[in-house]
Amino acid sequence: MCSEPLPRLDYPGRVTFKTPALRLPRPAPLYAMGASAEAIAETTGASRFLVDGTFANLDAASATMDGPGFDTAVDMLRRPGRPNGTIPVLRPDFTAVPHDLSVTWLGHATAVVDLDGVRMVTDPVLSARCSPSQLVGPKRMHRAPLAASGLPDLDVVVISHDHYDHLDTPSIRAIAATQPQAVFVVPVGVAAHLMAWGVDASRIHQADWFQDVQLTVRGTTIAFHAVPARHFSGRGLSRNLTQWVSWAIVGPKHRVFFSGDTGFTESYQQTGADHGPFDVSLIAVGAYDPAWPDIHLNPEEGVTVHGMLNTGTKGALLVPIHWGTFNLARHPWADPMRRLSAEASRVGVEICVPRPGSTLMPDSRTGTAFFDQTWWERCA
Ligand SMILES: [Zn+2]
Repeated sequence: MCSEPLPRLDYPGRVTFKTPALRLPRPAPLYAMGASAEAIAETTGASRFLVDGTFANLDAASATMDGPGFDTAVDMLRRPGRPNGTIPVLRPDFTAVPHDLSVTWLGHATAVVDLDGVRMVTDPVLSARCSPSQLVGPKRMHRAPLAASGLPDLDVVVISHDHYDHLDTPSIRAIAATQPQAVFVVPVGVAAHLMAWGVDASRIHQADWFQDVQLTVRGTTIAFHAVPARHFSGRGLSRNLTQWVSWAIVGPKHRVFFSGDTGFTESYQQTGADHGPFDVSLIAVGAYDPAWPDIHLNPEEGVTVHGMLNTGTKGALLVPIHWGTFNLARHPWADPMRRLSAEASRVGVEICVPRPGSTLMPDSRTGTAFFDQTWWERCA
């Protein structure tokens, strides 16, 4: 693989990463909390999106955005969002040579994406829990289709932000150790966490909103455009020290959109104009709640965002992610798919709802993911 050494920057002087020479062992939960504020600041430098040292959304917070209150906490303890049936999990089947375009959903926001012969994984979380501890915290509702050490050969690991359900310390460390050829494309600030976990700075490419990372793999150049999402970040006590992004991933023949975590923002209109239309949009449509409308899209908003990203085209496929795997909100388990299916058919958007471990080839509308599209109804 050859690649530009660092993302193109519109501000100078922030690219001298220092990999810590010595780091004393810390208990696992503290270690998983990631880099210190000082180490993060070294990798965010002079981002023009920092306001008094923290990142902020482009949109003002909604009037209803009070955050979860006592009632919400009580509801969460009741854990209403579990399925009644066993979620079917397929054993993923990866080709030796990456496809021109395919998506294999591994649960939550984790997908192996082949784009113009380059293989990448999004937000790899393959641990039993999404938490700093493997003893407490949200636990999987279906087994992982494979372990992080069992992933196919990857060219790129794409990260949207540093929350535990998107940036998983054991998964990152396993990939870094077993896949020396893989590089990491991350939002500004997230490099500090990776380096704290031992990933060499030379393997990490950062981008801020409206910047891109260009990587050339086996002669094919892929552009990873970081575009604004509406969300927040943080793994410990401090919030918003690292950036959160959606990724518009553009190859010579195909385009994939990966939402990461986001609430609704009009800025996706600009993303669609700048980088769309996409062959496939991976859009987070779960873990929404009226108590946090700015944090996660609800399914109807997910369909609207898909339309904004793909104006003037009918061929784009919406693949829902960030639902079904971890119980992170108060809605019933199948609610995201019920609402998504209804809204997609109302407005004429084509969706594909993969089972964990299944694969889709959007160009031909083939693959195991297209089989049994109503599987989730039997688990509800
Ligand atoms: Zn998040």
